[in-house]
Amino acid sequence: MSYCLSHRGIEHVVLERSDVANSWRTERWDSLRLLTPNWQSRLPGLAYEGDDPDGFMTVPEVIEFVDHYADVISAPIQTRTTVTSVCCAGDGYQVDTDRGTWKCRAIVVASGACNVASVPAIASSAPSSIAMVTPLDYRNPDQLKEGGVLVVGASATGTQLADEIHRSGRPVTLAVGEHVRMPRVYRGRDIQWWMDAAGVLDEHYDQVDDIKRARNVPSPQLAGSPGRSTLDLNALTGIGVKLIGRLAGIKNRKGQFSGSLRNNCALADLKMNRLLNTIDEWVSENGLDNEVSPPHRFAATTVEKSPPLDLDLSNGQIQTIVWATGFHPDYSWLGVPVLDRKGEIRHEGGVVDSPGMYLMGMTFLRRRKSSFIHGAGDDARDLSDHLTSYLANTISNADSILQAGANK
Ligand SMILES: Cc1cc2nc3c(=O)[nH]c(=O)nc-3n(C[C@H](O)[C@H](O)[C@H](O)COP(=O)(O)OP(=O)(O)OC[C@H]3O[C@@H](n4cnc5c(N)ncnc54)[C@H](O)[C@@H]3O)c2cc1C
Repeated sequence: MSYCLSHRGIEHVVLERSDVANSWRTERWDSLRLLTPNWQSRLPGLAYEGDDPDGFMTVPEVIEFVDHYADVISAPIQTRTTVTSVCCAGDGYQVDTDRGTWKCRAIVVASGACNVASVPAIASSAPSSIAMVTPLDYRNPDQLKEGGVLVVGASATGTQLADEIHRSGRPVTLAVGEHVRMPRVYRGRDIQWWMDAAGVLDEHYDQVDDIKRARNVPSPQLAGSPGRSTLDLNALTGIGVKLIGRLAGIKNRKGQFSGSLRNNCALADLKMNRLLNTIDEWVSENGLDNEVSPPHRFAATTVEKSPPLDLDLSNGQIQTIVWATGFHPDYSWLGVPVLDRKGEIRHEGGVVDSPGMYLMGMTFLRRRKSSFIHGAGDDARDLSDHLTSYLANTISNADSILQAGANK
């Protein structure tokens, strides 16, 4: 956004509570790699410049990439400045920080989609002997007690942590709800390459039937690894991870699990095949059938006939629960009345329900790719255009009102 504002000649400042790339410095686990390939880490004015376009950045590499970008675009960043409150003031906003107050005509909320781990209320019913950890606190398996681990949630984070923790010798049971299955590689190319080429990631927020639902779709079961291996439920059961249904409650020191595991897995298989059909159609339409390997389908997810519906949490088999149940933003500093009943900002494709306020970085904000690094560019171009017209219109309106007054 800063790059786009600079290009449109809009004077601005970027306020950051810590250092550039703070979320990558302080909120990620040690072994994490981007699940998006390096070539996809592109921002306005900077494409990936390294010699491994098909690799997956480690966390230190992401920090270096974002740091480098801030330098290249000479972003006017004021670090170590925490925004403590934003409220309406005249025809703009007053922004209070721990290092002074700012007044501005327009504001872009880009404080991140994943500030807080979403832990369900039932966590408080877990026996006190069980240690609990969220992905924001988790760094590596060594910080966990020896013994069994219940990982709740089977999206990108849950599957990656289940894999790493189980391989560390702590037997993992993975509670699986609705999820999105994807192969890492299909017909010889990375799944992200296909989705990018076929336009799936560019799908616009006003082209989908149910945008509320689309914004709540879980992240895909994908991991970036040098071996480009697929990390789906079959891969996890292959190393010995046990699958169980969605965690519905904890009562009398027992976890209670939904009986929908088989259905959820069948649905995820079906949706994956729909995506592969879209890719196959795109390949044929573009005459590429002879250039890539032939279409094929993956084995259905293997689920035992009658997965258990409860799990004793007091017999010592489970020592730790990892809540891989998603994240949400923190708007505790936002004093402008733009939050809905769920605490989410009301907006239309990033244009917030308060004049001159904009939002960035949320799931499917304007496009399916909006919450990814490579999704920021197109959204920033659109929203900075809107912001520029907003400023031009409000300034010329103010001028006309002043002139009208002067003529009287
Ligand atoms: C576990 C995990 C894995 C991910 N993997 C990928 C991936 O493989 N590929 C990909 O493209 N994306 C991935 N993402 C999404 C990724 O986080 C985003 O692509 C990118 O970091 C979003 O950048 P952002 O600037 O919108 O938000 P953030 O990176 O969250 O940055 C927000 C910034 O705002 C600052 N801030 C917050 N509140 C305040 C305040 N009150 N005052 C001042 N500053 C404040 C924070 O310190 C932070 O630096 C992943 C996310 C998570 C959680």
